[in-house]
Amino acid sequence: MFRIRRVFDGVLPRDARTVEQVQALLRERFPGVEEKEIRQIPAMLRDPLHHRFRAVLFVAESADKLAGFALMLHVPDVGFCWLDYVAAQPGSAGRGVGAALYDRVREEARFLGGIGLFFESLPADPEFCMDASLRKENRARLRFYERFGVRIVANTKYETPLIDEPAPCPPHLLFDPYTAKKPLGRKDAQQVVRAILERKYGGRCPEGYVDMVADSFRDDPVRLAEPRYATPAPPPAAQVSPQIALTVNDRHEIHHVRERGYVESPARIDAILKKIEPSGLFERLRVQGYPLRHVTAVHDPGMVGYFRAVCARLGEKEAVYPYVFPIRNQARPPRELPRRAGYYVIDTFTPLSRNAFLAARGAVNCALTAADSLLDGQRLAYALVRPPGHHAERRAFGGFCYLNSTAVAANHLSEFGKVAVLDVDYHHGNGTQDIFYERADVLTISIHGHPNGAYPYFSGFASERGEGQGRGFNMNLPLPDGVDGEAYRTVLAKALKRLARFGPRFLVIALGLDTAKGDPTGTWRLTPTDFEKNGRMLGRLCLPTLVVQEGGYRTSSLGPNALAFFRGLSEGTRERTRNMECAE
Ligand SMILES: [Zn+2]
Repeated sequence: MFRIRRVFDGVLPRDARTVEQVQALLRERFPGVEEKEIRQIPAMLRDPLHHRFRAVLFVAESADKLAGFALMLHVPDVGFCWLDYVAAQPGSAGRGVGAALYDRVREEARFLGGIGLFFESLPADPEFCMDASLRKENRARLRFYERFGVRIVANTKYETPLIDEPAPCPPHLLFDPYTAKKPLGRKDAQQVVRAILERKYGGRCPEGYVDMVADSFRDDPVRLAEPRYATPAPPPAAQVSPQIALTVNDRHEIHHVRERGYVESPARIDAILKKIEPSGLFERLRVQGYPLRHVTAVHDPGMVGYFRAVCARLGEKEAVYPYVFPIRNQARPPRELPRRAGYYVIDTFTPLSRNAFLAARGAVNCALTAADSLLDGQRLAYALVRPPGHHAERRAFGGFCYLNSTAVAANHLSEFGKVAVLDVDYHHGNGTQDIFYERADVLTISIHGHPNGAYPYFSGFASERGEGQGRGFNMNLPLPDGVDGEAYRTVLAKALKRLARFGPRFLVIALGLDTAKGDPTGTWRLTPTDFEKNGRMLGRLCLPTLVVQEGGYRTSSLGPNALAFFRGLSEGTRERTRNMECAE
């Protein structure tokens, strides 16, 4: 088995290693390629504008080893894609690596739109290629592409050798009609050919050569040769390439407080999952287990130990509600476990049950698995979890939250670069604020209902700005009741300005959907359209982004709002990628 992923740049150590492997494979499989061209691949990935095209690199990997790669160039000013290389490791023939990579490339080209996908392939016709042994290999390659419905551009002088060679074998120009919305027009084809010959072959074309080839395109639409080497398969149904890694806490149901009015219920996850999964936007990942040290890195080990121990000794139907709060004599936690609850909790409605710890731990594992997918090169990831976590502070839980999954994941990512956490839940993310309050490498921003009227009441004021080294790295944007989408976005824009100034390597979004119209715990009036717009604004930041599910309690609108948010998020990311505005 192998997996295909996109490598956006070589910034992360893992990606840098992958790019090196790609370069090695390129050298091995295409010995004619100049070393200079191979060396510039990392720069092409990093700095698209300089090269006037954007390199898109897909790699196929099997157990962390490179099985193959495809390098495509996107030329947005002319509006086409050019496939530079597809290569599989020697010995991997028959595993379908090449076909899977080509499939991924054409889906991307189809998404990017414009004139379509082009590339070159060497001829198998004795008229163009004299070397019989070469012709055999070339025929196999053309057969491979023709099966996809790719066609040779016919009746032009594209196959004119560049320089006088003793045994020339100039390539055909190929076009994949699946990637185009309309037949290939003459003018479009001429522009494509000019761009390729000028930008890619640069100084190597003799004078007048580019004009000669471009002028040789006479047919309109351009004539495409009938397939000669294979019978094309019917084109696949258009599909959305999944681009958001999804982890779901499938152990969430074991935590169920069956009390009237306890709105944090298992139905919340199911409502979201039912709506988002059929969209094709998500690719579900298997959740990995992580050691507890990830949790104790952000929570007081005493609290974590207590939480684990008290849950383990409870019966199936038992629950512990805190009733003594030793706020004065903190050096003397009550000895008996049930009585000690108030020592670690901020409110009276976050009961402890036998499965609360296991469920919260499952949520943490989901958030960490999703965070790790960003380190693997995924751009967007979503941990769909409950119980939520953002109210859990370093040494106190509450607000339906036990372990702060958002903070655990943000802390993990912070080992690889600066992290911005944006909390968009209706309620202030007091836990996340508390955990990172003295840190300058994790910026925390929260937009929420003003604590004068909204939970948690004691935290979330604009004057809380961080302490010590973290001074200036916490931003609270409390808002009044009744906020609508437009007013919300004005404030969101302000948050994003601060975020951009911080220049994070990763973005973590604590996604509360309780800002929605009709939520029983909120007063704001956001609609699906608003969630889509907000998502788009965040997607346009072009940052590797982890979204962790927090609150949201109106079950009937959770699904539509979540889907709208992620549509916006992925569209925002893609929009800017399409326009080459992301520095990737
Ligand atoms: Zn909330």
